[in-house]
Amino acid sequence: MILLHICCGPCSLYIIDYFREKQLSFVGYFYNPNIHPYKEFRQRIRALEEVQKIKDFEIIWDKEYGLRKFIGETFMYWDKPGKRCERCYFMRLKATVKKALEIKADAFTTTMIYSVHQNHELIKAIAEDLSYRYKVPFFYEDFRAGYKYGQEIAKSLNIYRQGYCGCIFSEEERYYKKRRKELLKELKNSKS
Ligand code: SF4
Repeated sequence: MILLHICCGPCSLYIIDYFREKQLSFVGYFYNPNIHPYKEFRQRIRALEEVQKIKDFEIIWDKEYGLRKFIGETFMYWDKPGKRCERCYFMRLKATVKKALEIKADAFTTTMIYSVHQNHELIKAIAEDLSYRYKVPFFYEDFRAGYKYGQEIAKSLNIYRQGYCGCIFSEEERYYKKRRKELLKELKNSKS
């Protein structure tokens, strides 16, 4: 059995179908202290609960809101997004590998390697390192191949799709990105 760390409902859809097609047994694990604020955290839990109902599979839930845990892990890097994300990946993957050991799973993996918006190579490197240290195999597949498919399914099932990665910083950054695009557009228009 594979322990599948799940960051959110939409990101799990393609991987669930993949496992079912390959006849691989799996159990989900929700552990994401990086999701803020509290309302958003609850909303993502609700979205995954909907996916669970539709796809009918087991999930080990950690529904404790982890703002303090997240800050404790990342505060030194609040102005260094790359390092902050590295700590965030490590925090969630370490909990996953420990859970895999606890429940005697054959391997572990994560929906984070499904997203085209994450640092895929870094997540893979951290998971491989943890796998080596804890002696639990890391199930790797480049799930990004199914990104479009998963998003389409999420849309068709009307599953809530969040507008940012998770932490308060990424919530702010999405507006920066939007504003940067708007400024570029304004600049282009003023030149024409
Ligand atoms: S942007 Fe995403 S991966 Fe990076 S620290 Fe925030 S929640 Fe974690």
